[in-house]
Amino acid sequence: MDVSNFSNWPKIIMHIDMNAFFASIEQRDDPLLSGKPVAITNGQKGSCIITCSYEARAFGIKTGMRFSEAKIKCPSLIKKSSNPKKYTKISSNIMGILRDVSPDIEIFSIDEAFLDLTNCRKIYASPVNVAYLIKDRILKSVNLPCSIGISGDKSTAKFAAKMRKPDGVTIINPRESESILANYSVKELCGVSNGIQSFLNYHGVFVCGDMKNIPISILASRFGNIGRKIWLMAQGKDIDTLKLNASPAKSIGHGKVTAPNLRNQYDIKKILHYMSEKVARRMRDNNFESNIFIIGIKIYKGWIHKRFKTEYHINHGRDIFKICLKAFKSILSVHGIYQVQVTAISPRPINIQKDFLLDDISKKKKLDHVVDSINRKFGDFRLQPARLLGKLDTPDVISPSWRPTGFKRSV
Ligand SMILES: [Mg+2]
Repeated sequence: MDVSNFSNWPKIIMHIDMNAFFASIEQRDDPLLSGKPVAITNGQKGSCIITCSYEARAFGIKTGMRFSEAKIKCPSLIKKSSNPKKYTKISSNIMGILRDVSPDIEIFSIDEAFLDLTNCRKIYASPVNVAYLIKDRILKSVNLPCSIGISGDKSTAKFAAKMRKPDGVTIINPRESESILANYSVKELCGVSNGIQSFLNYHGVFVCGDMKNIPISILASRFGNIGRKIWLMAQGKDIDTLKLNASPAKSIGHGKVTAPNLRNQYDIKKILHYMSEKVARRMRDNNFESNIFIIGIKIYKGWIHKRFKTEYHINHGRDIFKICLKAFKSILSVHGIYQVQVTAISPRPINIQKDFLLDDISKKKKLDHVVDSINRKFGDFRLQPARLLGKLDTPDVISPSWRPTGFKRSV
């Protein structure tokens, strides 16, 4: 393959797709399932197939089919209930590997991602090398197969990844995208529903090559932007850029200005508790936990910060509040305060496994889960620790670099 070809591609987009992801994981973990037709359902009672192994697909079994119906087509079909926690953990592992290859990543679903390699030309010899590097790393780390497509736009890269399944690498030179797509049904394009397909068929468009025979305005007036996008996709000219996923938050914090020279112990504790609950709540909303906290208190001389490391990663408000009290026990009884700040440093995605090991944490998580769902439904802090009852009349302080989502902008 002539590697130098890539240098004049305007854009280099890669699509990575894990093959029969959930089923492959189950086959990997249970030798009795290896090489057998396996269907994954939601729970033991689940009747609908959410995905199945390649061996099952050979019998014509598809996602969405009822298990009872599938069993008629393939009597040896094995039912396996899904294990979302396991899949999520493996998925974040894989996405971590991809993020190391290029920070320009769009996580498309639990088992699919796009990478934009346009800015990595000088780092890697060629996108083909990158593809095999990724496949090796994924295989080594989680022992699962994936298919990779490389082209000049998202839609064609996704189409390319589908061409060789499982375990393939397919390159479509952007200059050839239009002619390669031309003979494939429009249904092969991601986003073409049955409804859109019938509309296109009605207008004489069956394969992608037919698309240039109708004006873009026909699709635009019927389907708006999606219509325009499909018209371009069929000709290998998808203009969509990657929706870059925000890198993990560096810190999550909340602060509050207090009444000047506040000395009332009860009020001070209330404010610290309130900030702790807010930080904890935002970590939970984003599925984060942390084991490093910085608690700041401003007294007349200026800020005093204390850094605190906990034994386990936490995101429970009361645990953070306890840290605040521990950090400032001596100071609080001596000085009046002006402002407080509670910050969780380097929060990481929740480690689900730990829940099984630590019963105490598991109980707190259950409680937080119930409280969070009630508050989400009925309003912030509708359910709250008793200490926080009654109004706090000074404003919260949020630094300008916070995003509305609560993540600090990364550099
Ligand atoms: Mg897949």
